[in-house]
Amino acid sequence: MDTSSPLRQAAALVAREFAAPHAHVVDQEARFPIEAINALKREKLLSAYVPVALGGAGAGLTELVDIVEILARECASTAMIFAMHQIQVITLVRHAAGNPWYVNYLRELVEHQYLIASVTSEVGVGGEMRRSNCAVEVDGQRFRLVKDATTISYGAQADDLLVTARRNPDAANSDQSLVLVRKADYMLEQKGGWDTMGMRGTCSPPFLMTSSGDAAQIIDMPFGDMSAQTVVPVSHLLWGGCWMGCAAGAVNKARAFVRGQARANPGTVPPTALRLAELVSMMQSLRTSVQACLTEYEALSAADDAAVGTLTSMGYSLKMNNLKVDATQALPLIVSKALSICGILGYKNDSKFSMSRHLRDAHSAAIMVGNDRILATNANLLLVLKDD
Ligand SMILES: Cc1cc2nc3c(=O)[nH]c(=O)nc-3n(C[C@H](O)[C@H](O)[C@H](O)COP(=O)(O)OP(=O)(O)OC[C@H]3O[C@@H](n4cnc5c(N)ncnc54)[C@H](O)[C@@H]3O)c2cc1C
Repeated sequence: MDTSSPLRQAAALVAREFAAPHAHVVDQEARFPIEAINALKREKLLSAYVPVALGGAGAGLTELVDIVEILARECASTAMIFAMHQIQVITLVRHAAGNPWYVNYLRELVEHQYLIASVTSEVGVGGEMRRSNCAVEVDGQRFRLVKDATTISYGAQADDLLVTARRNPDAANSDQSLVLVRKADYMLEQKGGWDTMGMRGTCSPPFLMTSSGDAAQIIDMPFGDMSAQTVVPVSHLLWGGCWMGCAAGAVNKARAFVRGQARANPGTVPPTALRLAELVSMMQSLRTSVQACLTEYEALSAADDAAVGTLTSMGYSLKMNNLKVDATQALPLIVSKALSICGILGYKNDSKFSMSRHLRDAHSAAIMVGNDRILATNANLLLVLKDD
């Protein structure tokens, strides 16, 4: 990773000074990592992807994935919040920047460092992002939207929400729009708690959302197109940064543990060094698969209109889904192996080699859009996709 860019250096400072010192308490109390998120705002990192012409830093996706990894090494919840927010910003920049309302909004986001949450999951639909029960109801220049959401990360702390819904009350449940709703225009009624195994700092309980707004806030492009071109690949890549950081945090503890053993018995190679060699190889495979997909996505996104055909193809969708499933299966295995290397010191909660938080956070990855749901989509694609 190129750590020399100002944005990466700012992220490293936030990770070291504001995420790491509070990560344990954030996890223990399942509370929002306010110190780290405020620091990210001070460093103007929430608007990193916004083009320079609108006041942002004009960062690329690769830089954002690196920032997510840097944060996740210290606090995976902070990293996941940052990743989820960036998915929303990237979607707006790529698909709504032709709309004057959104141009103005993005300028305001840079100035005020708004934090945007995502509302795709819904009661009765679960984690199927490409279906909605709720519908946008337009009346003249205003709309109304009510959504019974199963999970909204940092819903209570967000400034604004980006919500999927059926285009209108008569639309099929796959005919979706994407709508940004502003804090002053929505109400959230919390319907449950967030006392989870891991990712406790994301604060993601269910909420009933009631909102209204200007019809200009309904993005013109169908959500299905945005999903294929941007939301799904960018999510899997930014989450990939979080999974790499979570894994690297555990691997680095295991490395320190083995080095300590080696120092205690100079001239000998500790037996755990063999397991460490395997572990580092697993980490390398995870990194290689995320990086390969990232490089390809960056190239396709920068290419001409013909590349849109590739991004929306079944083959590409299959590949990005495979990245998610493979990486999320690898992550808990990597952390478990790091735990076995550190032994009792990895098992203890009050040891500097503790793996508890990494392991609990790691298990969120496979259910954050259930892997079986993704594999079921792939199974359907494979029935019609020609052989390579
Ligand atoms: C840390 C975290 C943060 C999150 N933040 C947000 C957020 O900010 N906004 C948001 O909208 N959502 C969020 N989610 C929710 C997430 O996007 C998914 O909706 C949710 O994790 C899926 O919940 P579920 O297990 O009930 O899955 P469901 O999709 O309801 O599935 C239930 C089970 O059935 C399986 N399954 C479903 N369909 C099939 C199928 N066709 N074939 C085989 N098996 C199937 C699934 O694999 C799963 O095991 C978050 C989740 C996590 C873990």
